[in-house]
Amino acid sequence: MRQIAIIGSGPAGYYTAEAAQKLFGADVAIDIIDRLPVPYGLIRFGVAPDHQSIKAVSRRYEKVALSDNVRFVGNVSVGEHVSIEELLGLYDAVVLATGAPHDRTLDIDGADLPGVFGSAAFVGWYNGHPDFAGIDPVLDGTDVVVVGNGNVALDVARILAKTLDELGESDIVRHAYDALETAATERVTLLGRRGPHQIAMTPKELGELGRLERACPRVDPADLPEEEADALLEPGMRKSVTLLREFAAIPESHRADKCIEIDFDFFASPVRIVGDGKVEGVVVERTELDADMRSRGTGETYTIPASMVVTCIGYQTPPIDGVPYEHGRGRFANEDGRIMPHLYCVGWAKRGPTGTIGTNRPDGYAVVDLIAEDIGEGQGRKGRVGLDALLEARGVDVVSFRDWQKIEQAEIGNAREGSPREKFVVIEDMIAARGA
Ligand code: NAP
Repeated sequence: MRQIAIIGSGPAGYYTAEAAQKLFGADVAIDIIDRLPVPYGLIRFGVAPDHQSIKAVSRRYEKVALSDNVRFVGNVSVGEHVSIEELLGLYDAVVLATGAPHDRTLDIDGADLPGVFGSAAFVGWYNGHPDFAGIDPVLDGTDVVVVGNGNVALDVARILAKTLDELGESDIVRHAYDALETAATERVTLLGRRGPHQIAMTPKELGELGRLERACPRVDPADLPEEEADALLEPGMRKSVTLLREFAAIPESHRADKCIEIDFDFFASPVRIVGDGKVEGVVVERTELDADMRSRGTGETYTIPASMVVTCIGYQTPPIDGVPYEHGRGRFANEDGRIMPHLYCVGWAKRGPTGTIGTNRPDGYAVVDLIAEDIGEGQGRKGRVGLDALLEARGVDVVSFRDWQKIEQAEIGNAREGSPREKFVVIEDMIAARGA
């Protein structure tokens, strides 16, 4: 029997389990270990709460989770309750599917002022991640600056801009829903250090900004390149840039009944965050593009008022002691998913934080092919029996998939009207909800 441990129960973890099941049939035992008592990682804590159709992919993972040879081993922290070395001694293959939950940091003066949040923290707050449920975003000010021109920046701007009515069918957690009800936001500035042709925003997500009840996007026509240049873009980007052109053409009369403006500030790189004890503004340097399409400062600066700053500039995988790591790229050092004998990585932990949920599927299947090559029929390791003995000896309170299903039922039962669930945001509450 092949014994495989997957660390992380997000999309990369479940696609890997699905692939292993398909390839090895009944001749594999797969343990999906997660430090939280609830599964699905990025689907639960990263995907925007108003994007329920994307979250529906968890039903596919549930099918995998419910099969006989797959276990969810929740509430078990690798590095605390069990080490990588121990797992490597117990399993034929250990797969790191730990995602990239940490923010890339914005290394400028003032980035540590109160009122500056990374997207992991801010998104984690409105998605009810236990690590971030207690942060206290500054929502009583009028001006929010969002750094970055990717899809996460769009998520953050949209959630800040939506009315409670628009969030009604989302699973945004209660504390965020309540806080947004009284938020004073009037302007969300999206800072892009490059131009409209260099955005990392996809058309579906960008298009949503044009259909908000009380908010309206603003693009300065002067920032747009000549229209003929759009022909050189790949089709997705061309659609996104076409949307920016539409935003630039929105007449002032249309803005009159909108109380929030989402302002695209292109060619604008943050150089300093200023404020007396808390963030009050962002000093920005005008940029231009060099021949390689990188941004370079022009020396011209200006200050944008800011009551809160959210940096959405990408993520990184947290390093694990003893596991080779590529610091520049924020991921494990690996060759096509192989890190060292018996140790593999998939998804963002392998590639860095790019691509959609679906990109993780081929990743999972590819790593399982490597595992099949490397471990053959398996080497008679103890696998899950050994893990259970170890965790029991250490008094770890393991949460199973059946337990999760009870937690999920409780969350569904607690949902406000119209919403699919009210998530527990405290680990102890999650564990308590599984009952006796
Ligand atoms: P991203 O797509 O890599 O975008 C990061 C943005 O931050 C870029 O605009 C980048 O500009 C900018 N940036 C980086 N360092 C900066 C700095 N020091 N100063 C100013 N700007 C800086 O990352 P993301 O938005 O976190 O998204 C991560 C992945 O998740 C992406 O693949 C994204 O498509 C995906 N995602 C998808 C969805 C969806 O499909 N609905 C939703 C959310 C996220 P440069 O280009 O100049 O580096």
